Amino acid sequence: MEKYDAIIVGGGILGLSTGYYLSKKKKILLLEKSHIGSGSTGRCIGGIRQQFSTPGTIKLAMESVRLFKEMEKEFGFSVEYAQTGYLLLAFTDDEVKIFKKNIELQKNFGIKVDYLDPRKIKKLVPQMNTDGVIGGAYSNEDGQAYPFLVLKGYFKGIIKNRGEIRMDTEVETLLEKGGKIKGVKLKDGKIIESDIVINAAGPWAGDLSMTIDYPLPFAPEKHEAFITTRLKKFFDPMLVDYRKDGCYFNQRLNGQIIGCYTPKPSHPGKSTNESFEFLYEMSRRAVRLVPDIKKAQVLRQWAGSYTMTPDGNPIIDKTDIEGYFIAGGMSGHGFMLGPATGKLLANYIMDNSFSFDMSEFSMKREFKREELLK
Ligand SMILES: Cc1cc2nc3c(=O)[nH]c(=O)nc-3n(C[C@H](O)[C@H](O)[C@H](O)COP(=O)(O)OP(=O)(O)OC[C@H]3O[C@@H](n4cnc5c(N)ncnc54)[C@H](O)[C@@H]3O)c2cc1C
Repeated sequence: MEKYDAIIVGGGILGLSTGYYLSKKKKILLLEKSHIGSGSTGRCIGGIRQQFSTPGTIKLAMESVRLFKEMEKEFGFSVEYAQTGYLLLAFTDDEVKIFKKNIELQKNFGIKVDYLDPRKIKKLVPQMNTDGVIGGAYSNEDGQAYPFLVLKGYFKGIIKNRGEIRMDTEVETLLEKGGKIKGVKLKDGKIIESDIVINAAGPWAGDLSMTIDYPLPFAPEKHEAFITTRLKKFFDPMLVDYRKDGCYFNQRLNGQIIGCYTPKPSHPGKSTNESFEFLYEMSRRAVRLVPDIKKAQVLRQWAGSYTMTPDGNPIIDKTDIEGYFIAGGMSGHGFMLGPATGKLLANYIMDNSFSFDMSEFSMKREFKREELLK
């Protein structure tokens, strides 16, 4: 019977980052039912921000940014990480109030973030149509990276650390006995043993957990994205338009515009079917905010999942089943929070303690809070 110190289910950013840090000290096996990045991570748009509204998420995001900065040195190649900024746009007085409150909190943690009036916003992105914009929150420490390069870095790192990765290998059920995790059973019937199993199965994490009747409060939702042909680089920050029919997009380092919007009402489920409605609406919304975008053409559109929790914060924790850990429910922020999540969870598994208070991400919290900046 095969046996490993730890088994990780899921080859997205969370599985790979956790596997990378864990494989420095432990014999690990990472199992992926399809290929690396085939889940949400390969479908994300690569945005990274520290502008969150709670101490836990701010600290997790700051630690991730620290790790993104080190990746080129650590992996030996660039992951196209750049601090191109995030500009959150307010169209209502309520949004202004929320932004100002958040900025105060973020500044207490040392984040460089400022409230901008419409004049300063126009100066930052001269091509923006600022009709209706009454203010904004801006940090030039936020930015972007290329998701596939980040995955490649962790993948190569795990192999270098003598960890093992198997693709096209689906876990059919987790194995549990007497309140302890025992390993996994694969779809081909093979059993692999381990006293530690990390469920990093993204949108499928809830289904996987139900194989041992351990429910997780995860609700996958469909989110779509598009990318355009290149335009000469003319703006830097991710522009986040919080109107009901808003959207968010930035210009990649190579000039392409990449962006999404949050459908209202939401589209529950794991469907990855792209829609004409999104193609039409996303183009309209992006061009309304930055008219020059009409000079580009849509190159591709696709769909993926956000794995939501009731309070919009992830779960990064052990469970009541000894040896069974969860990294998931990233609620649309898994790429940006992924590096720190993996590092902290790996350390927690090895030392039984987190380096800072992670109670916001615990299994046992009450899920009452509502994330202010989705
Ligand atoms: C359109 C879009 C845009 C986004 N933009 C951003 C962004 O700008 N910034 C940001 O931070 N986040 C963004 N996100 C969210 C981000 O993509 C996710 O939060 C993140 O990728 C979650 O990573 P993960 O490792 O938990 O899951 P995944 O990447 O989904 O990985 C889970 C993996 O588990 C595998 N798996 C599942 N079940 C099994 C099984 N039984 N056996 C074996 N393998 C299994 C799957 O095949 C999958 O590859 C975006 C998401 C979408 C859809």
